[in-house]
Amino acid sequence: MAMAEGTTLTRDTDSRVRFISPAMWPWVLLVYFLVGVAGSVLLDQGQRLLIQTGATPRTGTVFVVITVNIILPGLIVLTGLWYPRVLLALPGAILTLVGFALTKMLLLDWQFWKWKPALVGQALHPIVLVACIVGGLFAMLACVVISGRRRVGLADKRLRCKKCEYLLVGVNTGVCPECGAAIVRSRFDD
Ligand SMILES: [Zn+2]
Repeated sequence: MAMAEGTTLTRDTDSRVRFISPAMWPWVLLVYFLVGVAGSVLLDQGQRLLIQTGATPRTGTVFVVITVNIILPGLIVLTGLWYPRVLLALPGAILTLVGFALTKMLLLDWQFWKWKPALVGQALHPIVLVACIVGGLFAMLACVVISGRRRVGLADKRLRCKKCEYLLVGVNTGVCPECGAAIVRSRFDD
């Protein structure tokens, strides 16, 4: 019997889903922001290094294109896969953009109290803006694609009442003691 149950569990789609705690969202937004900071620093330091080593302008261009068009959106998508919540992907990508621009502004002029509005335009290339938005849209898509494996939610959701979310462990009456709704049992529930 235990064997049969185990087999059912591994065959069921739901049992393969890894649930990510919904409480993590503030940290996730921080990670999106830090992706922008990291992208900005990488771009700045990489360009410096390339100039120091006497690389050709073409190499410099290739480096910028790869960093902005592939690495930056790629990191946004990876963050989306780590915490796959569709609604958080685009705001997250905008935070990446903010992190990128703020870091660039600090690198241009660390005396932030002297910043003028024109500095924003200097720090924020339109291609970076497009890269972050596209990254956010791809991250939304990635959230949908991975939903069969990773999901933001409570791991014990299937043990709760579908109507009021009361935890139904050990309830054998067929109705929810909290709201009276009929309990629909999944086949792998006790
Ligand atoms: Zn209920």
